[in-house]
Amino acid sequence: MINTNLLKQGIEDLGLVALNDQLNLMDKYAEALVEKNKVMNLTRITEPNKVLTDHFLDSLTTLLAYTPKNGDIFLDIGTGAGFPGVPLAIMNPNNKVVMLDSTAKKINFVKETCKSLSVNNVTFLTGRGEVLAHNMEYREKFDCVCARAVSDMKILSEIALPYVKLGGVFIALKSINIKDEIQRAQNTIKNLGGVISEIKTVCVPISNTQKYLIIIKKISKTKKKYPRDYREIIK
Ligand code: SAM
Repeated sequence: MINTNLLKQGIEDLGLVALNDQLNLMDKYAEALVEKNKVMNLTRITEPNKVLTDHFLDSLTTLLAYTPKNGDIFLDIGTGAGFPGVPLAIMNPNNKVVMLDSTAKKINFVKETCKSLSVNNVTFLTGRGEVLAHNMEYREKFDCVCARAVSDMKILSEIALPYVKLGGVFIALKSINIKDEIQRAQNTIKNLGGVISEIKTVCVPISNTQKYLIIIKKISKTKKKYPRDYREIIK
């Protein structure tokens, strides 16, 4: 479904290397996504080259901000149809990727497709990010938490930072409006124990679109009261 030579080139342009098996897995995942999208609303991006750039390469820009060590665990909050979680799992077989979403049907699609493709370094959580963050099994347990197209930075920081280990990072993948968003999120980030370590501007190969990776380092533990109830967060 997608041109794996072009995908290989795009991945190389990001400074990464993908084996044929990994390229084929991404291709098969793309095919399953577009097929399922005919009966379930998973994505508005279905044109093969757009799936390649806007889903796969765009997701993999995360690795320009974070190079995982063996055993590091990722959490993708609001993974939707599996982005950036699935490309990260395929590219990093020695790392576990946990994908979380409040919509069960999306999680079920990602789970079943990963299972059928034998992408085994993945686990799934269905529920609200701000609720599951109070479960001690997940709280401050992740080396790298990422999220793409989920929410405004202020809301997202409160939901995401409780999951990040001390010394770990939260990476928000953004396309627009970051200046205002960051300004409004500054206090929340500080209150939750984070500090913005870098805002990286990156170019997605092939589509040449500009993206921003907001990299927040966790420097102190998050107080127990966070994240608050969603109605409180959005007030
Ligand atoms: N990250 C994917 C991507 O970039 O293609 C999906 C983006 S989609 C626009 C946003 C997703 O975030 C939806 O699947 C929604 O269910 C999920 N979401 C939004 N707020 C959430 C929350 N508080 N907890 C869990 N999932 C949430």
